[in-house]
Amino acid sequence: MTKSKAFKEAKALLNTDDLLPTLNRIYYNLIDATVLRKDFEEAKYLLEEGNRIANKLDYNTYLKSDYWQVFRSTILHAYTKCDMCNNKSNVVHHSNYKGVLFRERLGEDVRQLCFSCHDDLHNGGVKGRIYSPCNPPCSIEDDEQDELHCLTKLN
Ligand SMILES: [Zn+2]
Ligand SMILES: [Zn+2]
Repeated sequence: MTKSKAFKEAKALLNTDDLLPTLNRIYYNLIDATVLRKDFEEAKYLLEEGNRIANKLDYNTYLKSDYWQVFRSTILHAYTKCDMCNNKSNVVHHSNYKGVLFRERLGEDVRQLCFSCHDDLHNGGVKGRIYSPCNPPCSIEDDEQDELHCLTKLN
């Protein structure tokens, strides 16, 4: 059994997937705190709380969260060009997902890519950089996540 598969099964045993509604509620409380009440102390707390919960979720479950769905489509609407080639962006790729879920920074932890550049990343070195396959896979537009592995920069 691969390490990631063992990790996946351990998470399933711990039933952490049922934390998804909790994460969604934290997200809506966060919007309420920031947009309506401008309570940034509480917002900071909710962000940390959401981050803790998100890191316990199975990655594919996290990708279904309301937070990620909104964040992802917001990025693709605001940044319509691929970060690498300027074609239309289709995919929000996690270049880093360890410990950053629910508070990813665009450009640091995630970047918008077209399908083609995303595929290039899957195939190894791009533009002189070395990439290694990462698990779990990142979010892509269609329901192909399980088929594809995203890649993480090695340094
Ligand atoms: Zn591209
Ligand atoms: Zn990817």
